Amino acid sequence: MTKRPFFACMLMCAIATAPAAASDLESLKDEAVAVVDANSAELISLADQIWAFAETGLRETRSSALLEDYLESEGFAVDRGVAGLPTAFVATYGEGRPIIGILGEYDALPGISQRAQPTQEPLEPGAAGHGCGHNLLGTAGVGAALAIKELIEAGDFPGTVRFYGTPAEETVGGKLFMVRDGLFDDLDAAITWHPDVNVRADTQQNQAMVDFVVEFEGRAAHAAYDPWNGRSAADGAEVFTFALNLMREHVKPTVRMHYVVTDAGDVPNVVPAYARVWCWLRDSHAAGVNQLLERARHIAEGAALATGTTARLTVQSGNWELLLTMAGAKLIHDNMTWLGPIGFTEEEQEFARQIQRATDADPVGLEGEPVLLDLDPQGVQGGSTDVGDVSWHVPTLHVSVTTAPIGAPWHGWAVVATGGMSIGHKGMLYAAKVMAATMVDLYADPAALAAVRHEFEEKTRGIEYVNYLPDGPPELPVGDVP
Ligand SMILES: [Zn+2]
Repeated sequence: MTKRPFFACMLMCAIATAPAAASDLESLKDEAVAVVDANSAELISLADQIWAFAETGLRETRSSALLEDYLESEGFAVDRGVAGLPTAFVATYGEGRPIIGILGEYDALPGISQRAQPTQEPLEPGAAGHGCGHNLLGTAGVGAALAIKELIEAGDFPGTVRFYGTPAEETVGGKLFMVRDGLFDDLDAAITWHPDVNVRADTQQNQAMVDFVVEFEGRAAHAAYDPWNGRSAADGAEVFTFALNLMREHVKPTVRMHYVVTDAGDVPNVVPAYARVWCWLRDSHAAGVNQLLERARHIAEGAALATGTTARLTVQSGNWELLLTMAGAKLIHDNMTWLGPIGFTEEEQEFARQIQRATDADPVGLEGEPVLLDLDPQGVQGGSTDVGDVSWHVPTLHVSVTTAPIGAPWHGWAVVATGGMSIGHKGMLYAAKVMAATMVDLYADPAALAAVRHEFEEKTRGIEYVNYLPDGPPELPVGDVP
């Protein structure tokens, strides 16, 4: 790690108060990239260890401890177990403004264990695997945090860098609890990335969603001897899902609705006294989701009325849609252009093509070249993330970087495979460099940060964020991984 003499500190005042010249910015970015390169072996080792731990949401004890210990050994002050989540943490270096945060995840997905090879074979049958590449996600963020820490330490610019260890993105959404506890409130900007099948500065939003259950209570009776004494909770659930399915015809094309009936009785000869439907409703905006939720409440009441049962709707969680700024995306894209493409070797391309052939995808290999910046994105990407909730509190920049082959199923074995070998490692180091270089812009060029903040303020004006979390602490998992 580079340490530079004290006189460098005297330069920082000039950098902080006036827009930095392009050549100054470029040399600072060179330094940031050099820090990531100098630490690449350690970062790869961290990512591989987390890949092997493959811990699911809120069980990421070894994964979070690994990153916490590493950041602490690098001079960060680490606050462990924040927001009531044992595996959430905040690591801080520096003082004063700007304060820029990096969001990192490290949870795995159950049941998709896989070796780092191009043919399907579990590492441990039935075990979890990193099918969303979060072993790379958190570690790249640590790499970017380290680079910025070095530059602050060297006096290149003033400010504070924070790495947020955000657990359970795939389950309860750790960031929701961290948002509720105000952990992002004093940030000037946040940045994060996600493993993907191409390299791009994200401009397209995703979906807002609400997660709720509807429980029906009826009265048990013998289904043949005295069924008139019974009131079927399963009937309540059936009417509810039937009416919800009729509603599909009368919602906007941006809406997605999905449910599972998790409980609807035990045996046919007892009228079911209890039934439970678990439901997710999504739309392109939280406002649209709230309207759907109101309609679902009425449907639940109607289903109860029709079946002589009672219904209770409980909101469990939900996400706001991702709010992105074009100003932030332009910074990211310029830095991707400056860095150039990810150089995948012919061996890595062949690894990817083998996976593509095995998963019935076109054998086109890996995409390492940044895609064109889309400043007028059409439509909405399906899916939701707890990054969305952070993005309504602080301007959030979002990067996507190739770690897996195009066309191979996400949340599946192929993504686990490439996330545990050089393809994933290269994507991870590239993401760390893009984020670090973009953060250099935000720290050293006040106009860049101001443009991002201005656009954010325009887009959030008059909109009040209300989270979907129930009161109280998060429920921590017990027992074996499902
Ligand atoms: Zn993910």
